[in-house]
Amino acid sequence: QPWLEFPVRDRPYARDFDWSQDVRILKPASLDDVLPDSITERVLTEVIQPLISGQQVYLYWEGENRNLANETRSDSTEVRTAVRWGLECFNYYLANGALPSVGNATAPVAQFVDHPQQQYGFDAFNEALPNDYPEVLLQDSIPYRVAWKSQLALGEPSAQADSISFAIKGISDPATLSLSTPLGNYPVAQRGHDSYGVALPTQPEGEILAELLYTADANADPVVVGLLNVLAYAPEVRTVHIVPVGSANFLAAGAVKQRLDEIYAQGALTWNVEVEPAWDNRRWDLTLDGANLEESGLLTAYPPELRNCITRYQTSHSVNPNHYYLFLVPLAQGEGDLLGYMPRKRKFGFLFSNQLPQSIEAYAVAAAHELGHGAFRFDHWWTETGLPQGTTDNLMDYGGGTTLAKRQWEYIRNPQTVNTLGEEDEDAALTATPQISELADFRNEEGTYTFITPAKTLITLPHTLSEVYFSTGDNWSLQNECSGLYLLPIGTLAFFALEEEGEKNYFYAQKQCGNDQFMGYASANSDISYFDTISHTNLRSISMVSQPCAAPKPYSRYFRGNPMTCLWRNILRGIPNSTRAGAPWARLIF
Ligand SMILES: [Zn+2]
Repeated sequence: QPWLEFPVRDRPYARDFDWSQDVRILKPASLDDVLPDSITERVLTEVIQPLISGQQVYLYWEGENRNLANETRSDSTEVRTAVRWGLECFNYYLANGALPSVGNATAPVAQFVDHPQQQYGFDAFNEALPNDYPEVLLQDSIPYRVAWKSQLALGEPSAQADSISFAIKGISDPATLSLSTPLGNYPVAQRGHDSYGVALPTQPEGEILAELLYTADANADPVVVGLLNVLAYAPEVRTVHIVPVGSANFLAAGAVKQRLDEIYAQGALTWNVEVEPAWDNRRWDLTLDGANLEESGLLTAYPPELRNCITRYQTSHSVNPNHYYLFLVPLAQGEGDLLGYMPRKRKFGFLFSNQLPQSIEAYAVAAAHELGHGAFRFDHWWTETGLPQGTTDNLMDYGGGTTLAKRQWEYIRNPQTVNTLGEEDEDAALTATPQISELADFRNEEGTYTFITPAKTLITLPHTLSEVYFSTGDNWSLQNECSGLYLLPIGTLAFFALEEEGEKNYFYAQKQCGNDQFMGYASANSDISYFDTISHTNLRSISMVSQPCAAPKPYSRYFRGNPMTCLWRNILRGIPNSTRAGAPWARLIF
């Protein structure tokens, strides 16, 4: 016979409860002496109601703090949890003559907040992402989430103290507060009503917990009223080249570098910014209307025109594999309102010059965002966190902000794994571009190499071959006046370089204007043709090919319905599966 009852109306979720209607305590009159109404009322409002509404409840119980919600949430519904702890509270009261004490929330507690002059990063506790902030108990009883602070580590050139700020109520004299780290104690100054600041000197590289101490008077022990996790980093440096394309013009590298450095100081990183001479090759832009993105938004691959631009730039410029490149190009009409495009974990990106206001700030923030994707593999903040798009001030959100959170500071040093549709190799999504040394197994005995042309014939190239590019759905090297089918058959030899005495000559597959007749290989402006003197002597049975059809997803989007698409697959038919799967290159025996 229960002496106490909680009638609970059946609702599917705790959030649907109206606790005052749905949960009531029924107590027999005979219990009035031992369990006064005031106690049942307190249990209802201090324990049951908060638990049902999803809050955490701390009670001082049997010599330790107990977080009721955390202890019990895992194996029961919120309502059952609340009811069970309500009954436990009554038992406690009957045994002790008092309820377990509720955690004292009135002791002074500081919240660290942004300081307007901070130079490095600060990541304030965000209720929407509680797990990003370690939970501790202040003064053994007050639950507290610890915010993050970044800085350049002690001993690094240019490292300097940074301003931090916090809010705390009920302090009459700032001299009663100080910030303490293993290196020392730092004084606190009042900034405004309930607002204080402190200069945090550089700390040794690594993570420390800074304690905000409150010492009521000379006789009192200091009490911890706030904690801050400090991450002191060794500096990182990256280099970005800005390439104005066509008529796009560019502005002061110095000012862009300064703003990029301000933003990335949050992750203790600086940029070298180099503006390249304007590059006037417009042939990447097949439709001559700016960049077309087609089905982009994938963030792991380049649409064909952008890939074309990159490939052409790479063949006429020496590109540092450890640097990043941002092309300034116009975006075609009707391609939306993107400011830039850079797939994650790639070194080439684009800023759309006609989309950006002509200001250093606009260019620098767009560059910072795109480099976040390319250089540090940052995902968009809404994808990363599940928070609604455009609602935060994060650099990787679309809210116009430049904030980097602690997890992004860490990603700079420990990048996330990015699944680029099975193409972990950086260059794989550009063009199927092997190092010549990777093709050693396929070299003919006399040092030559054999490939398939877009006309599905074989071509054998001499030992001076230094670069090869297979079509992964690239375009022909088109004369501007040409029209017709643009796409090279996948897997065929799109272009190559021969190197003699340190000089590279590039030859591109050419087609005849007006039809799809393969016309051999010629230099970019087609004034020098490659003269093939050795293919007819080649009796070998080996060909080099790439196999994009074996990974149809990233490519088939561009070739839907194109009968050329699977020339490659047809060629591969007849090759045992074992040589088809996984390997980027295949050996063909004719
Ligand atoms: Zn983005």
